[in-house]
Amino acid sequence: MRKIILAGNWKMHKTQAETLEFVAQFKPAIDDAPDDRGIVLCVPFTDLAILSKNLHGSAIQLGAQNVHWEETGAYTGEISAAMLNEVGVRYVVVGHSERRQYFGETNETVNFRLRAAQKAGLTPILCVGETKQQRDANETEAVIFQQLKEGLVGVDQSQLVIAYEPIWAIGTGDTCASDEANRVIGLIRGKLTNADVTIQYGGSVNPGNVDEIMAQPEIDGALVGGASLKPDSFARIVCFQ
Ligand code: PEP
Repeated sequence: MRKIILAGNWKMHKTQAETLEFVAQFKPAIDDAPDDRGIVLCVPFTDLAILSKNLHGSAIQLGAQNVHWEETGAYTGEISAAMLNEVGVRYVVVGHSERRQYFGETNETVNFRLRAAQKAGLTPILCVGETKQQRDANETEAVIFQQLKEGLVGVDQSQLVIAYEPIWAIGTGDTCASDEANRVIGLIRGKLTNADVTIQYGGSVNPGNVDEIMAQPEIDGALVGGASLKPDSFARIVCFQ
């Protein structure tokens, strides 16, 4: 049985004070959300502890945006899975296109991070997707299949979420047509050994397009950047019809 998960990716946004303000408005706004869906907030490291304390008794689960593969050591600027676990993190985004593009993340380092997250009991959200140039060159499938092939070596598919995020759709307002996202997600599913993996779509999801996206049979949720920063917008997304 595939689980529906709506996850917000705040990227490098929100101080602790802004986080508390968000939660105060978001919690009541999702009171009526059906309980068939998981709700996750993937926030900056500095917001994790305070958010964790303020999520008790709510359906919201805590997520981070990166995790290192070593348990401890001289890795300035990185964070371990145990450190995330300690503050109540359950999900962690791995291999987001911004990490791949700006911070030298490769399929190999993505794989290391996925395995470290799982070893500590976290559920990674693996991001895959193609650039506009790759799409125009008909390389979408090849690129994604390679990301999966190299990224999923030794990864337990029973403790995994995948987000299909066409890079050209991220933060651009240029959403992938829902039937095309559905098609690519179906192809991704065909490469997996576990039929129950939740596969989300990500890329300019907003309150106006979420219902159509979530009506697609292969799409099990959304990874939401910009629209997850506003409590009313993200609440509307979480409460999709
Ligand atoms: C993202 O950050 O993963 C994302 C999909 O961003 P946005 O929703 O803003 O396109």
